[in-house]
Amino acid sequence: MDKVLTLGIDVGSTASKCVILQDGNKIVSKSLIHVGAGTSGPSRAIKEVLDNCGFSKEDMDYSLATGYGRNSIDWVDYQMSELTCHAKGAYFLFPNVHTVIDIGGQDAKVLGIDERGYLKNFVMNDKCAAGTGRFLDVMARVLEVDINDLERYSEMSTKTVNISSTCTVFAESEVISQLAQSTDRCDIIRGIHRSVAGRVAGLAKRIGIQDALVMTGGVAQNKGVVKALEEELGREIFTSPLAQYTGALGAALIAYEKCKK
Ligand code: ADP
Repeated sequence: MDKVLTLGIDVGSTASKCVILQDGNKIVSKSLIHVGAGTSGPSRAIKEVLDNCGFSKEDMDYSLATGYGRNSIDWVDYQMSELTCHAKGAYFLFPNVHTVIDIGGQDAKVLGIDERGYLKNFVMNDKCAAGTGRFLDVMARVLEVDINDLERYSEMSTKTVNISSTCTVFAESEVISQLAQSTDRCDIIRGIHRSVAGRVAGLAKRIGIQDALVMTGGVAQNKGVVKALEEELGREIFTSPLAQYTGALGAALIAYEKCKK
């Protein structure tokens, strides 16, 4: 039988991610563009993922779009909520997962996963930037630090600095005031990570955490946040280098299941 190719597209609020899977188990191509819904990001990510492996849209046996901006991709075979896709992607990466913490660009979600990898329940913060990637993006800009370097700087922290405001706008003023007092940037960054961890831990405790606990989404790449969350929750958190692709990967996996049916 011919190889089955499925395309998963995750149109996030902040980034566009695509994954092409062969036979539901082998990643043949992936792409990531750092702009999301309402921008050229989704079409650029789709072009890149296809160009990377020399296939065209027509070569795909099934395409599935997920994420905040999934409705803008109208030519796909199916559109589906990112909650289901994240659950599926996390289960593929970590078959023993029971809780997923997903921190993306504009929201944070905690998902309960059953024994077969299906979504059981969830809680979500999409009302406020605190505890999301947006909070970190704003703070990184004020601190004139690249988002990729937050982790490295926080590791060099030697003193505890509390960022007490829960509102992003007030927290930004707090950071500016700390900088004006010549507080070490590394200590401020660790304080910012602890602030994000505090917000997300509060969310996670609302549905109850069951091991294995997995973190997905772009922010999972910042080990400073992962470590702060581990300290806050007193549990080990598993991450994958594919963390930001989890939704797109889940979409491609579900596309394969639909194709088989
Ligand atoms: P969405 O699906 O909502 O678009 P993502 O899961 O793609 O969100 O995550 C986007 C967020 O990930 C950004 O707001 C940014 O804060 C964070 N991020 C992206 N890349 C990195 C990185 N290399 N290190 C740390 N954080 C990152």
